Amino acid sequence: MIIGVTAESALGEQRVALVPSVVPTLTKLGVDVVVQSGAGVAAGFPDDTYIEQGALIAANRDDLLGSADIIARVRAPGSDSTADQFRTGQVVVGLLDPLGSTEAVQSLARSGVTSFALELLPRITRAQSMDVLSSQATVAGYKSVIKAANMLNRMYPLMMTAAGTITPAHVLVVGAGVAGLQAIATARRLGSVVQAYDVRPASREQVESLGARFAELELETADAEGADGYAEALGDDFYRKQGELMAKLVSDSDVVITTAAVPGAKAPILISTDAVRGMRPGSVIIDLAAETGGNCELTSPGETIETYGVTIVGTVQLATEVPHDASQMYARNVAAFLTNLIDDGRVNLNLEDEIIRGTLLTHDGEIVAERVRVTLGLTTTESESG
Ligand code: NAD
Repeated sequence: MIIGVTAESALGEQRVALVPSVVPTLTKLGVDVVVQSGAGVAAGFPDDTYIEQGALIAANRDDLLGSADIIARVRAPGSDSTADQFRTGQVVVGLLDPLGSTEAVQSLARSGVTSFALELLPRITRAQSMDVLSSQATVAGYKSVIKAANMLNRMYPLMMTAAGTITPAHVLVVGAGVAGLQAIATARRLGSVVQAYDVRPASREQVESLGARFAELELETADAEGADGYAEALGDDFYRKQGELMAKLVSDSDVVITTAAVPGAKAPILISTDAVRGMRPGSVIIDLAAETGGNCELTSPGETIETYGVTIVGTVQLATEVPHDASQMYARNVAAFLTNLIDDGRVNLNLEDEIIRGTLLTHDGEIVAERVRVTLGLTTTESESG
């Protein structure tokens, strides 16, 4: 059996799904790893580094797709023609954007592949080593602070010099999940004064343990955390009130990093146009929630804009801007996933396994993931039908 790695086709994507160091882990499972020539170059992994670890190189995408039984991707094939070239029965693993891109999911189903969307991994202890959302959020959280530093017209740390004292920059982080906590830690290391807020009460202790101040907002958040550990959707009135209460914090900050997301729903708008207008000229907002619309009313997903003197970065897939480490982490996640999927050199589609069942997106020409079927209106939920 062959695991194939194609070069990524999404615009600006620099990561690669498998890196050389995971090749031996996979070959030990009794499979061959074949990499499309040049697939790892943008992430700092030229072909010979794969060969040294026992992988083979395919000259081009057609050769690779023709021979691979499993195809490891970072991003969904999307609008390129790769999905049309998949063979019935081939297995595809990656970030397939199951709840975002209807057309891409339908084309995967049409092509007859058995696809696994890693965004759908259940957040159970056994799946932690496969958790691509966490690993990529870690990188994005770090990079958001560095990106803001590059754009900001001030420095982060306090400096007492012969030329006078420079006061530290103030950073506000909204949403203290995986990305937010990493942003807080990075901003603290660079010497800024950090405040953060999250609706999940459990996050306070984590924020404070990183040396940041937890913002006090008069909001009732006892029910904000669902049984799965994620934030629940709290309603427009709540978000409006939160936005009003945060406006002063926003205007007092030089950098605002927003990561507040609600799984399966549009990101809440927490920073209004008025709040942006209250910021000092030269301030920066990095909106990591842009992928699901953004936490700032003015965010334009995928774009950087400047308005009222404030730079607003509507970044999507920021981890791709640190492609080497992001790929290493992603590849280890994928290798752990494949190790669970492959048994005795073959794919074992064991639907009793919560991880395999939870991530299975398409099979035998159908979209099978329940959450995706409900979103696309292919199935009614139990509460609707009962
Ligand atoms: P996420 O990307 O869905 O959301 C980011 C953060 O935004 C979350 O902390 C959320 O509470 C917060 N948020 C949502 N609405 C908000 C609002 N209105 N105002 C302020 N903040 C808001 O979540 P994530 O970062 O992937 O993880 C969320 C939680 O799940 C964390 O506690 C994390 O440690 C946990 N987690 C558990 C596992 C596991 O058990 N395997 C894996 C990963 C993450």
